[in-house]
Amino acid sequence: MDAANFALPHVRALAPYQPGKPIEELERDYGVTNAIKLASNENPFGPSPRAVAAIGGLLSGLARYPDGSGFALKRALAAKLGVSADSLTLGNGSNDVLELCARAFAGPGDEIVFAQHAFAVYAIAAQAVGARAIEVPAREYAHDLGAMARAMTPRTKLVYLANPNNPTGTWFDRAALEGFLAAVPARVMAVLDEAYFEYVCESSYPNGTEYLARFPNLVVTRTFSKAYGLAGLRIGYAVSAPAIADLLNRVRQPFNVNSLALAAAEAALGDEEFVARTRESNRDGMQALVRGFERLGLRHIRSAGNFVCVEVGDAGNIYERLLRRGVIVRPVANYGLPRHLRVTVGTPEENARFLGALEGALEQSLQA
Ligand SMILES: *Cc1c(COP(=O)(O)O)cnc(C)c1O
Repeated sequence: MDAANFALPHVRALAPYQPGKPIEELERDYGVTNAIKLASNENPFGPSPRAVAAIGGLLSGLARYPDGSGFALKRALAAKLGVSADSLTLGNGSNDVLELCARAFAGPGDEIVFAQHAFAVYAIAAQAVGARAIEVPAREYAHDLGAMARAMTPRTKLVYLANPNNPTGTWFDRAALEGFLAAVPARVMAVLDEAYFEYVCESSYPNGTEYLARFPNLVVTRTFSKAYGLAGLRIGYAVSAPAIADLLNRVRQPFNVNSLALAAAEAALGDEEFVARTRESNRDGMQALVRGFERLGLRHIRSAGNFVCVEVGDAGNIYERLLRRGVIVRPVANYGLPRHLRVTVGTPEENARFLGALEGALEQSLQA
């Protein structure tokens, strides 16, 4: 029996998500030690100590189901964001809420629009519900919002925007977002992914939640995986009109967010100092990486996130050479960027080690 013969055609056609290589796998397969991973946009400083402390007391309660309504975390988020608790949807990572949006609003015969080089989950979410994924060509690696608005057809049910986008780090400003939302038909859901919101320092960067009142078809998603340092726990959320949250709630698993994640996220939310330090260190680290690229004569894509794509030529080759030097970064050929590698901003020591390894890898490939 070949199981593939029985699967739905759109499931057969799916290309699975490719995660960054885990440190343990590299050390096992390449026999290196002291490897560093700058491949998944994780917080190099770990989680907030307050989040860790919040989990400790809960382990003996693991026999109980979590609070499926996420009451305490929603109350804390609502207060922080200035929204009502019934406009929030919690997810097992923001990936979960991105998928809930597709499941609630699109199906076979519908279209879901997103940009070229955009986060891979949008295409997977679209295809998994049988919708047609419409990829709109980027401009200088960035979302072309005008072209995306023009790509809407009567079949379009949903559009995904990433601001900033992963893997490119490109972003758009308030005027661009407003113009786009005004151009999107009211029957199309506009899902604005702000996974890197806490990292952005640009003054004209829009806070998506400020547009919810004007655009009832807007859904803003955020996560605790990146600046809050909780990627391993899997927790994120959507902010939307309560009527949309009500629909997302119908298609989610009853206990999609676990009890440790709920408690850790609530504690992390209260540690604003941790997030501020994370942002500052990221800004300094980004500068160090960019200076390093310039010194090596490499071009990069300007990024507002905690990662940056650098153009290295034969990226597959340089990626391998970096692995042998114990440094894991992310190849992005599957995003249509075969000449780039994406590197996450790490600690000052990790950034220096990466730049040293990159210099060595480039010299080696010149000699080869
Ligand atoms: C990392 C990332 C996410 C979500 O990750 P979760 O861990 O599922 O919250 C969402 N969007 C983008 C663009 C990302 O890079």
